[in-house]
Amino acid sequence: MKKLALHWKIIIGMVLGVIWALLSSYMGWSAFTINWIDPFGTIFINLLKLIAVPLVLFSIIGGVANIGDPSSLGRMGGKTLLLYLLTTIFAISLGLILVNTIKPGKLIDEQSRIDNRINYEIWASSQGHEIKDGINYLKDPEFLERAQEISELTKQDLKEVSVSDKIATADQRKETTPLQPLIDIVPDNFFYSLSNNGLMLQIIFFAIFFGVCLLFIPNEKSGPVLKLVDGINEVFLKMVDLVMQAAPFFVFALLAGVVSKMAGDDIGKVVEIFKGLSWYSLTVLSGLLTMIFITYPSILKTFVKKIPYAGFFKAMSPAQTLAFSTSSSAATLPITMECVEQNLGVNKKISSFVLPIGATVNMDGTSLYQAVAVVFLAQLHMIDLTIGQQLTVVMTTTLASIGSAAVPSAGLVMLIIVLDSVGLNPAWIAIIFPVDRILDMFRTVVNVTGDATVCAIIADGENMLNYEDAKDPTETFDLK
Ligand code: ASP
Repeated sequence: MKKLALHWKIIIGMVLGVIWALLSSYMGWSAFTINWIDPFGTIFINLLKLIAVPLVLFSIIGGVANIGDPSSLGRMGGKTLLLYLLTTIFAISLGLILVNTIKPGKLIDEQSRIDNRINYEIWASSQGHEIKDGINYLKDPEFLERAQEISELTKQDLKEVSVSDKIATADQRKETTPLQPLIDIVPDNFFYSLSNNGLMLQIIFFAIFFGVCLLFIPNEKSGPVLKLVDGINEVFLKMVDLVMQAAPFFVFALLAGVVSKMAGDDIGKVVEIFKGLSWYSLTVLSGLLTMIFITYPSILKTFVKKIPYAGFFKAMSPAQTLAFSTSSSAATLPITMECVEQNLGVNKKISSFVLPIGATVNMDGTSLYQAVAVVFLAQLHMIDLTIGQQLTVVMTTTLASIGSAAVPSAGLVMLIIVLDSVGLNPAWIAIIFPVDRILDMFRTVVNVTGDATVCAIIADGENMLNYEDAKDPTETFDLK
């Protein structure tokens, strides 16, 4: 009997998870699902992250040291960062074009937009910000009365979503000097970076530093270290294979938990949540799907002719389905690496360097979504962002996506900084919060697919792509 490919098993797990959640919501069992099934989803993500952090460390050290000479490392590093930057800027531009054309924020009824505008003016005046676009409802006595009526309500609404702790974390991240981001990359205590998943950039810095130094040490001394590093890498990859055997079940638990938390004991709630935000969600989704199904395949077709359209998706589907169910590119990284190496035929020397960096700094999906979200929220408050302000959005979203940790909801938290940079109210993230988890699933797929695309291009450029000899994707993750 032909074996069912892993991604199909994962998809079946996801579908069953959603069905279970809907059923349990209908039967009033969602507390049971959250208490007894959802924890397995958390265990799954923990297991993947447990592998991902040391894997980033050892695979980059191995990747850098195996390259052999520092000049090709420099060339490859430069190309990698350039391609990551270009794809990110492309994604943001696509997002901006879509949101300026569809104008989802203007499709909301006029009265709520006026109320939003009044709220914005109240907030802007309290912050001492100049009010954008010259409309000033607060100066009009009729609207002032309305303002008094609605402002309390809004505060109440915001309290419910309780975003205050998220705002606090983002505030702490704010730079104190323009060079702060650079300072943040250089750890003063490496063990601290290791024990804080968010500090992936520091781990990458240390790993590259370590790997480069290995290159400068005579072979008889560096050889055993490198052997050990390679051996440790093998152990982590075996752990991935092992965990992936149970992935379909874990994914069932994850999805059952996510949907149960959204629906509670009232399925109708999910529909309600989406109604108000449907145009916004559709705008984000159309951008994300364009990236996955048109942009990346076209880039690949242009630069790497040998990978066919369907072949690319077949090779990457385990990573994509997992990115979708975990909403974390860091957790998916070990699987992304195996897919790219074994199914696309990218040499380990390239993937072990390009992919861990990509998972941390290259988030095309996140940046596209942030661009759409900022302009949508502005439209919702009757604010038209100027070209200059939208360029600021391009710059800050690029930086924010680099700074976002590759974990669920990181993009939403970083959105606070982007909103702040154009003088908008960071608390507005509460408005899009209800649909964020679902969009997060899709944008994580984009993030992972983008990394794999760039990796294949770099590998091809270095003559290290061997697609013809790649494995049959159904055999990846099998235990030998
Ligand atoms: N969840 C995304 C990732 O891990 C980041 C985000 O956009 O929230 O890639």
